[in-house]
Amino acid sequence: MPNFYCAYCGHRSPNIPALTSGACPKSPNGKHIPYEGSEKSTYTCKYCGIKSPHISTLTAGNCPKNPVGKHHFPTL
Ligand SMILES: [Zn+2]
Ligand SMILES: [Zn+2]
Repeated sequence: MPNFYCAYCGHRSPNIPALTSGACPKSPNGKHIPYEGSEKSTYTCKYCGIKSPHISTLTAGNCPKNPVGKHHFPTL
């Protein structure tokens, strides 16, 4: 079974309804927002191109190119 990840905090869920029904501490609307695409071995910031094996590691850091200041991933 594939897992789905929140693009903002890296929270993992077995399906999208379960993911989007949960509260997210980092997303702009307060809910987890699914990462666009399947589970990957590395995730790449949409703005600066930095890579990490974990979404949660990258979203904890600051992005030099995103106007909001955080690394960001494509969302559904
Ligand atoms: Zn989240
Ligand atoms: Zn970045």
